Order: sequence, then C-alpha cells, then structure tokens
Amino acid sequence: MNDKYNFSEVEAKWQTRWAEEGTYEIPDYSDRPKYYCLEMFPYPSGKLHMGHVRNYSIGDVVARFKTMQGLHVLHPMGWDAFGLPAENAAIKHGGIHPADWTFANIDNMRAQLKQMGISYDWNREVATCHSGYYKWTQWLFLQLFKNGLAYKKEAAVNWCPACATVLANEQVKDGGCERCNTPVEKKELAQWFFKITDYAERLLQDLELLPGWPDKVKTMQEHWIGRSEGAEIDFKLDGLDGVITVYTTRPDTIFGVTYMVLAPEHPLVEKLIAGSEREAEIKEFIRKVRNLSEIDRTSNEVEKVGLQTGAYCINPLNGEKVPVLIANYVLLEYGTGCVMGVPAHDQRDFEFARKYGYPVRVVIQPEGIELDAATMESAYDGEGLLVNSGRFNGLPNTRAMKEITSELAGMGNGKFRVNYRLRDWLISRQRYWGAPIPIIYCERCGVVPVPETDLPVLLPMDVEFKPTGRSPLADCPDFVNTACPSCGGAAIRETDTMDTFMCSSWYYYRYTSPRDIDGPWDKAKVDYWLPVDQYIGGVEHAILHLLYSRFFTKVLYDLKLISNQEPFTNLLTQGMVLKDGTKMSKSKGNVVSPEDIVARYGADTARLFILFAAPPERDLEWSDQGVEGCFRFLKRVWRLVASLASTLKTAPKRPSSGLVGLNRSMRRVTHATIKKVTEDISARFNFNTAVSAVMEMVNALYQYKELPETDRDPAVIREAVESLLLLLAPFAPHITEELWEETGHTGSIHRQPWPSFDQAALVEDEVTIVVQINGKVRDRMLVPAGIGAAQMQEKVIQDPRVLKLTEGKQIIKVIPVPGKLVNIVVK
Ligand SMILES: [Zn+2]
Ligand SMILES: [Zn+2]
Repeated sequence: MNDKYNFSEVEAKWQTRWAEEGTYEIPDYSDRPKYYCLEMFPYPSGKLHMGHVRNYSIGDVVARFKTMQGLHVLHPMGWDAFGLPAENAAIKHGGIHPADWTFANIDNMRAQLKQMGISYDWNREVATCHSGYYKWTQWLFLQLFKNGLAYKKEAAVNWCPACATVLANEQVKDGGCERCNTPVEKKELAQWFFKITDYAERLLQDLELLPGWPDKVKTMQEHWIGRSEGAEIDFKLDGLDGVITVYTTRPDTIFGVTYMVLAPEHPLVEKLIAGSEREAEIKEFIRKVRNLSEIDRTSNEVEKVGLQTGAYCINPLNGEKVPVLIANYVLLEYGTGCVMGVPAHDQRDFEFARKYGYPVRVVIQPEGIELDAATMESAYDGEGLLVNSGRFNGLPNTRAMKEITSELAGMGNGKFRVNYRLRDWLISRQRYWGAPIPIIYCERCGVVPVPETDLPVLLPMDVEFKPTGRSPLADCPDFVNTACPSCGGAAIRETDTMDTFMCSSWYYYRYTSPRDIDGPWDKAKVDYWLPVDQYIGGVEHAILHLLYSRFFTKVLYDLKLISNQEPFTNLLTQGMVLKDGTKMSKSKGNVVSPEDIVARYGADTARLFILFAAPPERDLEWSDQGVEGCFRFLKRVWRLVASLASTLKTAPKRPSSGLVGLNRSMRRVTHATIKKVTEDISARFNFNTAVSAVMEMVNALYQYKELPETDRDPAVIREAVESLLLLLAPFAPHITEELWEETGHTGSIHRQPWPSFDQAALVEDEVTIVVQINGKVRDRMLVPAGIGAAQMQEKVIQDPRVLKLTEGKQIIKVIPVPGKLVNIVVK
C-alpha cells in the first residue's frame, strides 16, 4: 500500500462509499437496545463555524462509539430554518427570497457536514421551514389552543425596535434583545401566549428527574422559574371601593408597612388619581416610566422615583392608614404589580423611605443587637423576634409568617400563596419568515381555529419583507382575507407568525418519523426512541430552548401524544472554541474557518484536534501547532500501519497464550489502552485523555516494531494494530476505514464491535527474588518481571520485613541482580 497519507483522496472515497452503501441509515426498530444521540440542530446561516464542528464531532464520537458497543443508534440532523436572518438578508440584498436563501444555505451546510464525515442518517433530515414540517408545528399550536394553553391577550410586551418584533421574556438578556443587543422597549400589544406558568411547579420538581444534566443548567432553570412562598394580602382602599392585593414573601413584617407602592401600569391607578389635583403630573410620570426598559426601571444603579397618589389603604391587622404611591421600580408583571413598603426590613424600601421621609418602623429584633429606627443605616432582613406587632410580639419571625397569614386568612383578608417568577411564553412575532399562526377572526364567531384538515396554512411566497412593526403578512390581501370555517362568512387570518423556539421545541420527535403525513410523529416510534439518551449543545440554550422543550414534552405527555415526561435524559453543554483567549467572531477577526482546516489537513485531523485539545465541557483554545501535531500523528499512524500491512495479512488472529518478555508487554499496552479508552469515553466523555492513550500506544508500537523480526510476534502486532484502528475509528473515521480495508479486512470498520480487553493481559508478570543479608538468604519477595535494578533495590530496602531485618544496622552496600536477588551488606 501507499505509504503516503493522502487525506483528501481517502476522505472523498469513503464519504462516497458510505453514502452509496447507506452505512449510517438506521432502521426504525431493532432487537438491540436503542440509543438516541442528538446534537442541537443549527440555524442554516450558510457556513459551519468551529463551534458547530466541535458540537457535531463530540456527538459523532458518542454515536459511533455506542454503535460499536452494539447499540441501535439514532443520530439525525436537521435545520432550525425559520427566523430573522433570512428575512434580513432578503431586505439587505433585495431580490433573494428568504426561502431560496435558506434552502441554499442548507445545501451548503449539509455538504460541509458530509465533508466532516459525521455519521448522520440523512434520510431523516428535517427543515422547520418546510411545509411538511410546519404543518405539524401549526397542528401542535391548535392542540395547545384547544386545551386552553394558548391564548391571546393585550399586554405590555418586550419590543425590539431593531428586529421590529416582540420578544419572549426569555429572549431579553440584561435588558437587551438576545439576538442583536438593542435595548428592549415595552409596548402594549395583543399577543399570543402559551401558558407555561401552568407547568411551573412540574418544570421545577422534575429537574430531579435529570441527574444526567449539568447542575449549572438546572440551577439556571430553577432561578428562572423562581418559586417563592409567601402570602397574598388585601389592603382595603380608604374611602374608595376596592382593595390592593399585594404579594409578599415577608408577611411577618406587615406591622412595619409604612407605605404601599403600585406599578404605574397597575389597573387601580387611574381610579386612585381620578379627580386629584395632581392627576396631570402623575399621568406624565406614568407615561415617562412606561417608556423605560425593564432594566432601566429595576437596576440597582437607577434612582428609585416615586409619587404620592393622594389615596390611602388600610393595613388589615392594625387598621393604620397607609399612603399609596406609584414608583418606577415596581413592575406589573411580577407578583401582583405592587409592593408593601417595609423600610426597616428591606434595603430598597429603606433607601426609598429615607429619600422621601417615610417612617421606618422596626418590627423584628434580632438577638444581640438593638435596632433603632432613628439611627439605622441599612435595613435588617435577617431573623429575629417580633416587636411592635400587637399580639404577635415575641414570636420568632419564621413562625409569625405562618401565624400572621393564618390570621389574615381567617379574617378573609389574605391567603398563603406560592409565586413564580416565570411568565407565560409570548410566541407571536410580527415578522414574515415563520410558521403562520393557524387562527381566523370572524366578526360573528370570534376567534376560530383553522380546521386541522385545512393545514398547513401556507406562508405566501409573494410578500414585501420590509420591517414596519407589523407582520408583512398583514399587507398580503390574498393571505389575510378568507372564509370563516365556522359560518362561511368573510373573515381574516391572524398575520403574526410563531416564535422559532416553537419549531425547535419538538423537532427531536419528528426525526423518529420524519416523513409521516398522518401526524407529527408515529407514536410507536417516539415511544421506542424517546427520551433522547444524550443531547449535546451550547449552554446559551439553558433556559430558552431547553425549558421550552421540557414544557412541550409535559404538554404532549398530558395529551397522551407521547409517553416520556422529559425530553433529554443526559445533557452535555460543550465549551466554546476560543482563539487568543476570546470567542471566535468576525468582528474580532480571529475566526478559523473549518473549510480551510479541512482543505489543508483533512476532516480527520480537524476532528481529532477538536476532541484532543480539551475536555468537551471546557472552552477550547485554538492552536495551529495543536492541529499540526494531530496531523503528524495521523501521518505516523498511516506509516506505521503501511509498514505492517503485509505482516497483518498473514498473522494469526490471536496471540498464543504464554507470551513472555517484550511480546507480553506489548500485548499489555494494547489491552491497557483498550481499557483506558473505553472507560474514558463511557464515563465522562473524556475524549482528550482517550486520544492521548492511543497516541502512547502508537509510540509503544513503533518501539516494538524496531525489534529484530525473530523477536516480534506477528499475532501481537495484528492484535495491536486492529485495536488501534478500532479505538481511533470514532475520532478519525476516514483514515481508520481506509487502513482497515488496506490491512485485508472486509466490511466497514464502523460496523465492527468495540474491542474488549483481556483482564489477564493487564496483569504484570511477577518473579520471586531472594533477599540476602551479608550473603545469607533471609527472605523471598515477589517483584514485577522486567523491573530495573534500581527499582528492584528500592523496593527491597523499603520493604517492612527487610527494614526489620536491617534495624539498628548500617547499610554499607546493596547489590541487585535483576530477576534473581538483592544482597544487602550491613555492619
Ligand atoms: Zn433585536
Ligand atoms: Zn364565522
């Protein structure tokens, strides 16, 4: 065989062969145990970046390894293909339709993935923008709608002026748009929501079902759901009809309330200020606050500004009149849109009260400190005993929380309440390139769902995309005007499209039956394959995609459309690919293109480097030398196997028993490497240490190869080389496949069983040596065969029995004779 490693020839040859032979096509069922290995599907931006290559290389090693271990592995790929970039490209480059742009990008990226040699079953490919897919996205919307989980509501929602669309709360990061960082504004709009809040408790509780998820992701979800326990308390308005209902986690501090604050948007505000002489001033304040972003209202750096409404409410426990204010820092979306001001025991309230001169009243005294309202410099929010609290005085505050709430409940003025930070998921978008929401508005019948038999509601192709702040579909009369499915009269369609996170909340079910036309999936197949055994993707999806997918799964489970309660059993969030210490990005000019690396070194080198350079969860620093090193290693493997190919073809399959000396050591290296690589991949996906073990094995083989031919055992070589190729196959699938064929094997290496190690081969041989003191035999010891003179001497003189024999004597000289004896001369 050729002793030069021609990677481009080898890789092209096998990619063609694999496609022709359907090497990675997976039947729906098998007698073998199933394993569903999935990487987060990408947005088809047009080109793979190194982050993609890393994500998919990790997934591919897992898929190939599990396949060789005898599992029936599903490893599919598809495209999260709706979304803004396509539309923005169409606006920018005029004339390119988002559909054409998207499908051209998909073709490009598919070709690149094939070039990487990733073992996807391409027969299962899906694209969420294909009508055969989004028909079912719409169908799923209708199931939620019919079950009361999708509703339309007028609300102050997050608006990204740059993207010209609303955003879900989960898409607002630090007050900015998750996609473009533009500060998010609030807008009053009628929007579609999914009732994810109905599932808050289950989404929280069931995190316990996910021991295979990283703790940091579970913690992020827990914080996002934000469960708290407290009380809902009614403060009656003074002299007016109505009550202010406030939620607090500190009912124990109710006697310390000295003012009440409402969000400017609170529905009661208009009533409170009506006819007041300050009405105009307050309205102007409200208008200003509403234009601020959430971050501008709640950040610690922003000054807290409040205004008296002139109205009062009554503290239900002590009957005190409490002034009612509005302030910028209270948001309608959280709790009940109001906050009771307890300056002595809440820092924000404390600062606000000092600024505006509201009284500070201590109602909790900690042990050992005497709090004095007049001199306090900050609030005290710890535990203590109640004071200034009527008949509750002297109670520990934790007990008072329960007793005060019970008292209020008894009076009909309050109740225990569990509160969540999680809000409903806003899913409508005012943009074109998404799945149309299948709803029709009829003047007579109201909101009418599109009948399932009329799906899909096709996205019209002939549309102006200019972002105007309302859906481009609204300017498309052929789309808008329709007949009411219920009464047949004239009606209009909903023109908003769905958030693309809706499309990605269920794609992993579709892979099991990607061309099904009778339903979103075949339940038997979903029941066979789901949940996903290993999911791999970026941690940036910790809340968005991963929370939405869990929500969807629970809804689908309740609707008996699936049988699994969680979508992903194990989750691996891979680290980023860095260059010069920062994330690769066009703006920083530190991008290394996968195309260039593949052209220069081949896909196997690119994959090997990515897997070798860092453990998967950690960030990976790009290194040109590291890539060179991996390339040299593969060339070394090639030359080694080429030089041994003829030996291999005639060698016996298995070494005979009773190997000794260096033959035995070489075999021990082979089996120790099999053990190490198997354990490193299985336990923690430690691909880097697995690869370095294979590298050491190659070094050992080179040394062994240098022995005189008469001393080498061809069967030992054969076993070593075959194991080497099998162990390396998931990492570098092309070169190993080629060398497998070149060394006389038939059938793809990727269909071979994973090598197993022979425990007996791992045992190091031992020999009995004699311990002499002053030339007399005093003891016998077992030492490893082949141990060097110095090591043997060390081992003997430190042996406890030998220490005893030489106790109190001076050792003058030690004479080791390897494999036979150690003589100790003492005085
Ligand atoms: Zn934006
Ligand atoms: Zn109608």
